[in-house]
Amino acid sequence: MIDVSIESVETVGLSAPLEDRFGYAQEWVDRRSAVLVKVEADDGTVGWGECWGPVAGTRETVEDVLAPTVLGEDPLHVERLYDHLYDAGRATYQTVVPLPAISGLDIALWDLKGKLLDEPVSVLLGGRERGDVRAYATGHYFRDTDDLSVQYDEIADEAAANAEELGALKLKTGLSLLGYGPDEDIELVRTVRERVGDDVTMMVDANYAYTRREARRVGRALDQLGVQWFEEPVAPEDIEGYAALRADLDVPIAGGECHTPTDFTRLFDVHGVDVAQPDVCIVGGLTPGRRIVTRAQEHGIDVVPHAWGTPVGLAASLHLIATVDGRPWLEYDRSPNPIRDALAGPGMAPDDGTVPIPSTPGLGVEVDLDAVADYRIDG
Ligand SMILES: [Mg+2]
Repeated sequence: MIDVSIESVETVGLSAPLEDRFGYAQEWVDRRSAVLVKVEADDGTVGWGECWGPVAGTRETVEDVLAPTVLGEDPLHVERLYDHLYDAGRATYQTVVPLPAISGLDIALWDLKGKLLDEPVSVLLGGRERGDVRAYATGHYFRDTDDLSVQYDEIADEAAANAEELGALKLKTGLSLLGYGPDEDIELVRTVRERVGDDVTMMVDANYAYTRREARRVGRALDQLGVQWFEEPVAPEDIEGYAALRADLDVPIAGGECHTPTDFTRLFDVHGVDVAQPDVCIVGGLTPGRRIVTRAQEHGIDVVPHAWGTPVGLAASLHLIATVDGRPWLEYDRSPNPIRDALAGPGMAPDDGTVPIPSTPGLGVEVDLDAVADYRIDG
């Protein structure tokens, strides 16, 4: 019997400016940020987690609001602690539960438990279906140019390189950011399809750029272009819109990075998605992530987690993927991220289109804080 308790919770705030900003339907991105969470037990064992979002607010929520709930507690009881964190977050903020902040703590607790029990997190989550997973490239963001032909050419060049390396990629639509509309979005997808050929697996992510009517028109075109899935066609709040589009369109519907655990329940009840995409750094951590996988599988819905962070979040995502039925993908982010690149260790890069799932205790990821010293904004 292991007899330890949680002694400390610390955060590491990281933020790195980008040389060139890039865009997607909702905004321009000019920096990458992350909050890492370090939980230490009184025997000196350490667990790491990652929160999505800006450092400001997230750091204070973890350290000042959530940490008191777990200090002194037994770190082996992770799911019970998650439920207590959820309740504490709701009691504090009432209309919103700070799920990204809870995520970092929950992931760190799983890493800690794995190290204490000498098991990979995926084994503790229920068992490994696989030791590696195929990867698709996320990137192809909008360039900061008004010249549409330059926009198309540069995105097609990037897609061709990713097609060569992984054979699967995801495009962004939502050129409304630059003042264009669905016609220009469809043309972008057509341009890339012609460039990479019909054999390359291609997904499309609209980041809720559309009204239902626009999404219906774009979705029909995407089906003609052999698109694997149409991600976040409409606003995340429009659960009924997801169901209506899914009923109207042949192209599979995907979504979930902006959805809470209870949103997933509603989405599944109306069968609003073919592919559910919880992000373990956003949705509350691996505990709700695994619960969502169970519910998705009960509804015959595929799970392909969303992932867009540092190697800590990537490793957590890989352990969830290890437990998923069917043929999931890893979302492999190729967009610029100096923090991710500085923290990247060996073993999580694609080899022949697949990425190995760590099999060492915990998440199986080392965190070298010296490597990200330049990006620390917490002193
Ligand atoms: Mg997305």
